[in-house]
Amino acid sequence: MRILIAEDDEVISDGLCRSMRLSGYAVDCVKDGQAAKTILSGEQPFDLVILDLGLPKVDGFSVLRSLRERNRQVPVIILTARDAEEDRVRGLDLGADDYMIKPFSLPELEARVRALIRRGQCGVNPVYSCGTLTLDSVGRRAMIDGATLELTTRELSVLEALMLRTGWVVSKEQLLERLYSYSEEASTNAIEVYIHRLRKKIEPAGVTIRTIRGLGYVIDKASATHA
Ligand code: CA
Repeated sequence: MRILIAEDDEVISDGLCRSMRLSGYAVDCVKDGQAAKTILSGEQPFDLVILDLGLPKVDGFSVLRSLRERNRQVPVIILTARDAEEDRVRGLDLGADDYMIKPFSLPELEARVRALIRRGQCGVNPVYSCGTLTLDSVGRRAMIDGATLELTTRELSVLEALMLRTGWVVSKEQLLERLYSYSEEASTNAIEVYIHRLRKKIEPAGVTIRTIRGLGYVIDKASATHA
């Protein structure tokens, strides 16, 4: 699950990014509306967007309008200090799926994120499989033949990043980006440790993580499917 956070308030943005990453989501943060429009029109698909309205350069309403004009169905939660009925109605009419007013409760926001993902509005099947290995990205667990694997949050995130792109190379940088918030020290050695542990744990499923020297890793199984 990949989430975009468009928020110019550093404190809110950093806090949100950190807690969403700890919950195992891959998170990208942008600090202005122009950057949000650019990243949303790029090739990287997002499963959910948390959008501030008062953004520099281009406001949140414009970001939302251009997103919906391109018929992108990604769920959007507006997170704003603007509590006027007029703004709430406008946001929802422009295609937002939810509207939260600052100051907000983080557990409630996370519950709303889960609710939108559960309702299947993200347009992706949140269960990925590779042979007998399956990963439920909403329930945050991986299973082999239905038996839950013992994985840490970070191991699960690495596995998810690989399974989202089964058969394709995922670079160490992409894995690092997914695991750490910007302020944390990230190390490629840590990635190697997670990969090493994952290989042992998923071995019974007949699934392999190959190292592609200088490029990254590929998770492989001829019968791999992902929606
Ligand atoms: Ca703002």
